[in-house]
Amino acid sequence: MFEYQLKLSKRRKTVALKVTDTGVHVYAPYGACIMEVERWLSTKKSWVEAQQTRLAIGVQIQIPWQSNKVMIFGEAFEFLFGTCNYIDHQKKQVVIKTSTRSSVKSIRAQLIKLLAVELEQYVDSKLHHFSTQMNAPVAIVKFREYKSRWGSCSSQYALTFNVLLAGAPKRMIDYVMVHELAHCHVLSHNKAFWQLVGKYDRDYKQAVKWFRENAKQLFIAKE
Ligand SMILES: [Zn+2]
Repeated sequence: MFEYQLKLSKRRKTVALKVTDTGVHVYAPYGACIMEVERWLSTKKSWVEAQQTRLAIGVQIQIPWQSNKVMIFGEAFEFLFGTCNYIDHQKKQVVIKTSTRSSVKSIRAQLIKLLAVELEQYVDSKLHHFSTQMNAPVAIVKFREYKSRWGSCSSQYALTFNVLLAGAPKRMIDYVMVHELAHCHVLSHNKAFWQLVGKYDRDYKQAVKWFRENAKQLFIAKE
């Protein structure tokens, strides 16, 4: 049997069990038969152990990215372990599912998937507007993690965006969209190219500077 703290309550009618980082808590009705409670608890042993392991992992896995923070659209979100994957924009939290078999690699992969969904939603909401304005037909849009580029444009009008852009302010993501769409007309970074970019993003120089100075905080360490 495991150690637990018992709390009796006159208002309670059933027995309940909770595992937190302060221990195992059992709540029972006042006057309940302790032997019966213990018998019930013995059937919960493996569940309790699983919960304890999950809590222990939360403390033991050292996440290599900076101070357990993840950037989303230019804001620092708190990184937490939980029972499913989601982003809470109100609380500014990123929660990733963790089990006894989780590794930093698998946790990171889940995080990247979540970021991809965020970025895809934003790009979807804006890209059509820019591509119409710039008369740049987009055949296909893809998202993947790049080490040293924010996007790419193939000669077949296939655009690819770096998933890590999800960490940049939306205004900077807009610049990357304009930049890649401009490549639909001019492939190299020549004068004509930057003129075209400047036509649709007047402050593009500020964005270029932002990426030069802030790229580091968008990368998520692997180890
Ligand atoms: Zn380019």
